[in-house]
Amino acid sequence: MLVNDTAPVPHSTDSLISQIPGVIFQFYRSHCGRMHFPYLEGGGEALAHIDRQQLAHDAGQLIEHLTGHDHPKIMSSIERSARWMLPLTTRFRLPFPKGKPHWIAVSANPSPASNGVRWSGIMMDITDQVAEEQRLRKLCDTDPLTGLPNRRKLMVHLTHLASLSTRHGTPLSIMMVDIDYFKQLNDRWGHLQGDSVLEQLAVQTQQLLRCEDMVARLGGEEFMVVLPLTPLQQCHKLADRLRHAIASYDFGIGAGQVTVSIGVAEYRCGEPLANLIERADQALYSAKEVGRDCVCLLP
Ligand code: GH3
Ligand code: MG
Ligand code: MG
Repeated sequence: MLVNDTAPVPHSTDSLISQIPGVIFQFYRSHCGRMHFPYLEGGGEALAHIDRQQLAHDAGQLIEHLTGHDHPKIMSSIERSARWMLPLTTRFRLPFPKGKPHWIAVSANPSPASNGVRWSGIMMDITDQVAEEQRLRKLCDTDPLTGLPNRRKLMVHLTHLASLSTRHGTPLSIMMVDIDYFKQLNDRWGHLQGDSVLEQLAVQTQQLLRCEDMVARLGGEEFMVVLPLTPLQQCHKLADRLRHAIASYDFGIGAGQVTVSIGVAEYRCGEPLANLIERADQALYSAKEVGRDCVCLLP
């Protein structure tokens, strides 16, 4: 007997929905804020650990117990969608009894309902996709040799800190750090040894600073340190400690073989970041001019 594999297998809608790798739902919120899921069906792991009967009656508790900042984030997405009748598109972490929370993506369309709003939509487990996004973001932001943040990540961070500094009037300083005569070091000890110096310098610099300070590799043998809540004089002291620590450290080629010059500058509230970086660069240039292995500053 011939069997036609491509013929559709008859399904009831219910049994079909229980096999899909996601959830179909209707979600209702009354004008006074009561929330529940009149309909919630689907397959995959996402529904395995939640109490559907509870959600059919009251969804407020589940939303309140979401991980991290997800509760206020999801509430404001719901609010915006209800107010402007725009699609609700968001993601949140759903706590799981064992292991890490799973990332769930939500996409739903609102429509007016009696005394409230009703959304019809889908939810999908996107945990693997989020992990991949995080891996790619890290790759984008990291210098592969030293593992430090790269210039791109540093500029995002510095922009954020500068806006906080402008808003709150708090101090912010930066150091521009450049290895002295690095070309000669490469020529004498080889490029691999040069690479090893860069890697060790990254570790040494991080160890000396506070965890809220960021060290980034700008490129080549040039690094920048960003020090929030730090006025110029304090940054100068730290820079001198760093310079001294590096000059006395043995990078595998004898202590005293590697030195750095450092330019220090402080942010002036509201100025363009390019001006701050330019001053730190000028200060670094002065440090090179006066003989290297030293710190210069420009307020
Ligand atoms: P100065 O004291 O004026 O800063 O002199 P310098 O020799 O350090 O500066 P210069 O700009 O002349 O040379 C920088 C050198 O850094 C040249 C380049 O080959 C080397 N360099 C850049 N990136 C890397 C890297 O990833 N690994 C290694 N080993 N060397 C690098
Ligand atoms: Mg150099
Ligand atoms: Mg340089």
